[in-house]
Amino acid sequence: MSFSRIIGYDRNISLLRRALATGKLSHAYLFYGIDGSGMMDTAVALIEAIFCNGTDGCGDCPTCRKVAGLRHPDLHHVRPDGAFIKIDQIRELQKELSYRPFEAPKKACIIEDAEKMNISAANAFLKTLEEPSGNAILILITTRVDAVLPTVLSRCQQLRFPSLPTETIASQLRGKGADEDSARIAAALAEGSVERAQEILEGDWLKSRTLLLEKIAGLTPEGIIPLLAAAEESAKDKESALHLMDLLNVFWRDVLLTHTGSPAIVNTDLSSLIRSVSERNSLESVLEKLERIFRTRQALTRNTNPRLAVEVLFMGLADQ
Ligand SMILES: [Zn+2]
Repeated sequence: MSFSRIIGYDRNISLLRRALATGKLSHAYLFYGIDGSGMMDTAVALIEAIFCNGTDGCGDCPTCRKVAGLRHPDLHHVRPDGAFIKIDQIRELQKELSYRPFEAPKKACIIEDAEKMNISAANAFLKTLEEPSGNAILILITTRVDAVLPTVLSRCQQLRFPSLPTETIASQLRGKGADEDSARIAAALAEGSVERAQEILEGDWLKSRTLLLEKIAGLTPEGIIPLLAAAEESAKDKESALHLMDLLNVFWRDVLLTHTGSPAIVNTDLSSLIRSVSERNSLESVLEKLERIFRTRQALTRNTNPRLAVEVLFMGLADQ
């Protein structure tokens, strides 16, 4: 994972590259932003660059591969042990950082979910953050910067990884070789997360999207058997049910847009299906269905049985 493979955060990447080139890296960085923005990939790319040749990791040599696999002897990876990052973990890390590096020019560590350092762990860590032994580089990562102690924040150089505009993600995906339709749809479904967009692009379910949406759009309350079969097929587990909710949400948003006369739909390749669904449903019914999808999504995140939740939703969607 070299810098060139990170999508969408050019400003952060050029800042890090410049710091590398001028020898002005900070001891401590805090990467904060949304889940799935590639903060971990950026941390790995930075350490590859330092360990490999000091400008940009090649991503291919044994050193880069060990860093990417988080099994380089000079890279220490800390994440919460249970609910917290505990003081013992910080002490262990401090001991490791105090040794000479085995292979690399310096020691490095990545601390994931840095907001989960409990107070004693954070206090024990402050001295290291200020002056890491042996010039080590520390990278803290969090999706909840509001929960990081101010004393920790103030000792780190902060880089933000916000959610990205849909068009930025789509154009980046196109730049990496995705076709027009897939890039647009994956970006629209990804809620600002590049990693999520890539997952969607690589997953099977984007390919089966047309068939699935056609099937769901054709459901009727009388056709209860295909309705239950469709629910069983598309909600095998929580994850696939959540993907389905995203797909349905965007589809019904397109139906709503068509109702209001807006041409800005995402599923442009399905425009005739969307038009016919929009003609069959009143505006009220479209809004109600979007609300049902929203509520089902919420229920799914609270561990409802995915198949049952999707069955109930499909019955609601089948009603015109
Ligand atoms: Zn390399």
